[in-house]
Amino acid sequence: MAHTTTGPVPYIIGMDIGGTNCRIGGVCSDLKLMEPVAKYNSRALFNTDEPEQILIEMIDNFIRTHPDGTPAGICIGFPGTVNKTKDTVISCPNLLAFTNRNIAGPLEEHFHIPVVAEHDVLLLLSYDMKLLGLEDADCIVSFYLGTGLGNGIYIHGRFLDGKNGVSGELGHIPLYGKTDPCPCGNTGCAELYCSGRALERLQEAAFPDIPLESVFSHYDRLPRLHEFIDYMAMAFTTEINILDPDYIILAGGVIQMKDFPYDDLCRQIRHYARKPYPEQALCFKEGSNHPFAGILGAGVYMWNRL
Ligand SMILES: [Zn+2]
Repeated sequence: MAHTTTGPVPYIIGMDIGGTNCRIGGVCSDLKLMEPVAKYNSRALFNTDEPEQILIEMIDNFIRTHPDGTPAGICIGFPGTVNKTKDTVISCPNLLAFTNRNIAGPLEEHFHIPVVAEHDVLLLLSYDMKLLGLEDADCIVSFYLGTGLGNGIYIHGRFLDGKNGVSGELGHIPLYGKTDPCPCGNTGCAELYCSGRALERLQEAAFPDIPLESVFSHYDRLPRLHEFIDYMAMAFTTEINILDPDYIILAGGVIQMKDFPYDDLCRQIRHYARKPYPEQALCFKEGSNHPFAGILGAGVYMWNRL
């Protein structure tokens, strides 16, 4: 769409709500990000019984500071599960205020434009698919190793959502013989052994003298880190062997750490992958590390939906 200086520019309001920070930005139809992006502290902000009222204030404020544009839709990414109709957050362990809150309803009533609440991993996957030119692929799986283990699945032209909207909870597949309690209520979940939080625990317990950010620089001499990569490969390959995807997107803060053994991870995935297929045709792609990928992904997702 061509923009002129005479009329207001339509844009999507994209929100990326993380456990620590919360960002809000505008995304035009050509996926240009409107500056500036506003950043807030999530915990301070959402320590409330009515988080949707806080969201309304933030969005009102954003709209006021961008008088040259006109919002066409709102898309909010949550670090948790949302329901199938994409209006209600089911669980959000890092921001409990959102548990079972209908977000889209009150916001649509206030702003009179379409509002969608979505699991943040699917917004990241939307952005990566756009960026990597994979939108015509039949099946894509993505693994985002940040604080937790995020997983997005795109199949036959749509994101897999499942009966309740909670597909892709790969972090909570059980690992045999493991009994540690998971915050989800079960025991022995994969996320306890392969996630940013798991890496932090491992570093504190096994090699406290090495700063967390440079642990992978010592990968060769630390068998416990090899084990960490092995847990990742086992979890990822479980899904890869089931779905036989066209592309495998690997991203997230842990994978983007200095000296992360990316080749070793891919080698281990090949090792566990079923032979001859999918093993012989595995196609790995590195996801974006754009600091506003969540907001841009919200824009891609919502423009596709409108
Ligand atoms: Zn769990």
